[in-house]
Amino acid sequence: MELIDGKAVAASIREELKEEIAAMETKPKLVVVLVGDDAASKVYVGMKERDATEIGMEGSVIRKPANTSQEELERIITQLNRDETVHGILLQLPIPDHLDEARALDLINPDKDVDGLHDVNVGRLHNKKDGLRPCTPSGVMELLRRYDVDTSGKRAVVIGRSNLVGKPVARMLEQANATVTLCHSRTKDLDQVCRGAEILVVAAGRPNMVTADMVSDGAVVIDVGINRVDGKLVGDVDFEQVKLKASKITPVPGGVGPMTRAVLLQNCLKAMRIQNR
Ligand code: NAD
Repeated sequence: MELIDGKAVAASIREELKEEIAAMETKPKLVVVLVGDDAASKVYVGMKERDATEIGMEGSVIRKPANTSQEELERIITQLNRDETVHGILLQLPIPDHLDEARALDLINPDKDVDGLHDVNVGRLHNKKDGLRPCTPSGVMELLRRYDVDTSGKRAVVIGRSNLVGKPVARMLEQANATVTLCHSRTKDLDQVCRGAEILVVAAGRPNMVTADMVSDGAVVIDVGINRVDGKLVGDVDFEQVKLKASKITPVPGGVGPMTRAVLLQNCLKAMRIQNR
């Protein structure tokens, strides 16, 4: 079994980006908009800002109180859209309940949408056109590439159909010529479907739901899940048992998670290139 070390791959991506950015006259700039006092969001936003500055990008955070109005939020986004020095805009979710999240996200210029979740970017992914792709699914594909996992003609099973992970990763696998089965909470005989997988990507948010009997010998297993159980982070895969069967497997933490952060930085550079075209 080979451990897929997302932390190491993410570190090398950051190094590559750092070199690239050092040679650039104008540096890519990422602006994160944070509304409210969600404790986890504050931590994530701090990490994103630090990640950006560590590789020589410009990173800043616009912090707004929980009682910010929809008009004010939209004014901020519109201003960032117009600001030519800003290349990437990220609205940290969740935002307070009184705000219309979909409307705010829709307002972001698709070419600055470093999360890759704008309808325009979803369409571009669907139609295999150039555009910004969602970070976590891109991170999964990058891990497969860097660990020489051949996807062409392979049976890939994805568990989870969210817009954030399951659906886009299934689409990307299909575009990498895998034969994809997309499973969800209503899927029948999930165990059996999973056993047919040569590549299994799990993004359900259910701790340890994929057990060894669901995995065939030699499968590549990518665990996207992040769950907190008794104060510890665990994935959706029973890692200790499944690793005995898998040919390659990601740990949690240290697998897909660090890749999501690295791809966000890659996306900001890509956003800048798209805007300068
Ligand atoms: P979500 O709740 O939006 O979607 C979960 C999906 O899993 C749904 O489509 C649901 O149908 C499916 N599902 C749930 N229970 C199931 C079951 N028993 N059998 C089959 N399918 C089932 O979640 P999400 O936003 O896609 O995130 C999924 C997991 O990935 C979460 O643990 C989340 O924390 C994690 N995540 C990790 C990263 C990262 O960077 N590593 C990024 C995003 C999300």
